[in-house]
Amino acid sequence: MNEFQLIDRYFKSIHLSDPSIILGIGDDAACVRVPPGHDLLISTDTLIADVHFSADWDPFDIAWKAVMVNLSDMAAMAALPRWMTLALTLPTLDSSWLERFSQGLQAALAQHKVHLIGGDTTRGTLSMTLTIHGICLTNQAITRSGAAVGDGIWVSGDLGGAAQALDWYRSNKQDFPLLKNKLHFPRPRLDLRTILQEFASAAIDISDGLAADIQHICESSQVGAILWEDHIPIHSLVCPSHPEKALAFALNGGDDYELCFTVANHHEYNLQNRLAEQGLSCYKIGEIEAQSGLRLRSTQGKVDNLPVKGYLHF
Ligand code: ADP
Ligand code: MG
Repeated sequence: MNEFQLIDRYFKSIHLSDPSIILGIGDDAACVRVPPGHDLLISTDTLIADVHFSADWDPFDIAWKAVMVNLSDMAAMAALPRWMTLALTLPTLDSSWLERFSQGLQAALAQHKVHLIGGDTTRGTLSMTLTIHGICLTNQAITRSGAAVGDGIWVSGDLGGAAQALDWYRSNKQDFPLLKNKLHFPRPRLDLRTILQEFASAAIDISDGLAADIQHICESSQVGAILWEDHIPIHSLVCPSHPEKALAFALNGGDDYELCFTVANHHEYNLQNRLAEQGLSCYKIGEIEAQSGLRLRSTQGKVDNLPVKGYLHF
């Protein structure tokens, strides 16, 4: 099998027709039509073996996670994901690996009605770069820079589960299967899209850890923040007998892919109603302040600066 047969067999077959796609896989470039009155949002993620996933994972899971992580960036902007490209680098042409990988890719894309429209296939160390293209109504994308003093800080679900799973995986703990889903199958919070559009002043997805990601909102918005320790939702399986360690996982552990967003106080009542209507739970964990930097108010009411220790590649 050569490169073109590989593309035909494993990737072109995923391609579904859609009125928005003028040209999909097979030409020098894909061509899509953005509906009138919309902006195009574009985001790229690279996943490298032994950095973002382990090469011994099921290739289905690798593809699944790569797609979901990429979609999470659209969720954070309150955008609707539409088209994806995939640049795949493979050490060898292993058809059983590619079969599982393309199954995972197809299943993940189908779940969110996203179309694979192109990519590139090369030989080298196992890695993949996915680029998602999404749409939102003109000027309606939610950015990191809109948080204002007094806004509440909200998170969309419990935290620390993925970091705990990784910790168990690395130390070969038999508990790992209990949290495997948190690490391998993150759920991009696209279900919050309309709620964010209506109420959020800023948003980010929690990929590097809550503290580091709130810090990004604060820097972009030129504000600071205080978090309330006893309001931070921690996954129930995260170090239940060591509350301090559990808090550290929730604040600094990456890979949860929940959303953190800010909401002006006058929207809070309507936000709560809309969440209840849609059967969703989000948690208010703190407040935006004028003073720069991040602070944590402990359960005892003591306020301390919060050191930020998110994941950094360099
Ligand atoms: P070119 O030589 O013009 O760069 P390629 O031979 O790399 O084109 O790719 C041929 C077609 O297959 C293009 O439409 C490209 O977008 C698509 N393609 C290549 N690799 C992938 C992949 N891994 N997933 C999806 N589409 C791919
Ligand atoms: Mg070409």
